[in-house]
Amino acid sequence: MAEPILELTDLRKSFGALKATDGVSLTLLPGEIHALIGPNGAGKSTLIKQIVGEIRPDSGTVRFMGQGIDALDVAARARLGLARSFQVSQVIPDFTVLQNVMLAVMGAQGRVFRFLRPALRDPGLTEPAAQHLEAAGLAGREGVKAAALSHGERRKLEIAMALALQPRAFLLDEPMAGMGLEGAQQLTTLLSDLRAKAPILLVEHDMDAVFALADRISVLVYGRLIATGTVAEIRANPEVQRSYLGE
Ligand code: ADP
Ligand code: MG
Repeated sequence: MAEPILELTDLRKSFGALKATDGVSLTLLPGEIHALIGPNGAGKSTLIKQIVGEIRPDSGTVRFMGQGIDALDVAARARLGLARSFQVSQVIPDFTVLQNVMLAVMGAQGRVFRFLRPALRDPGLTEPAAQHLEAAGLAGREGVKAAALSHGERRKLEIAMALALQPRAFLLDEPMAGMGLEGAQQLTTLLSDLRAKAPILLVEHDMDAVFALADRISVLVYGRLIATGTVAEIRANPEVQRSYLGE
């Protein structure tokens, strides 16, 4: 089997008496979409935060591309290519779609400009930014202000900005939330394509999307993984049906 891109071993985090994650081990393999599902309060977001370094685990380890990253902070993990998308606050509403992605490219290149306006004409930024927009399905929308985007387009902009980091893994926490049917379907197609660039750990409640996309599914309940398997295996698992799917 291929070396995992991401390997979590026995991660634990308690808030007081509450065990939000209670010994979680899982892998993210090259090229896969691994969905993480489970009821509200199961610990899914806590797990994502432990991976990106926002929450320090009480115990357990995170390895990324063969390297232990437990000592690294959020920024250092991001520089290694651990991309957590949908950090909405990064989008500047008054800037155009293209300018927002250019800022992300600038950040990823670690370049600092004295003045922003001339920087935003620099082809070293415009060209990669235009490519990321195309990959995120936003070609033709470059000149639109971010504030004017639909909810679905906004998600695509966030993906384009994440692509600027040249990620080696995507961690997505409920990307379908708040989207209409059409937007969710478009995003499903986009995520399916994105998997070729980097594997995706996908926390999602939209089961249509999960069943359409996931190569593997893990089910988290009260901080513990109760099952990992293919879509067919998870759908047929009686314990999963009882505790989550209710089918
Ligand atoms: P999920 O994303 O699966 O809905 P979360 O990881 O957000 O679940 O939360 C898991 C549990 O941990 C919940 O009971 C939640 O209330 C609790 N929790 C999450 N973050 C904190 C925090 N910072 N302080 C105290 N309790 C928290
Ligand atoms: Mg959550």
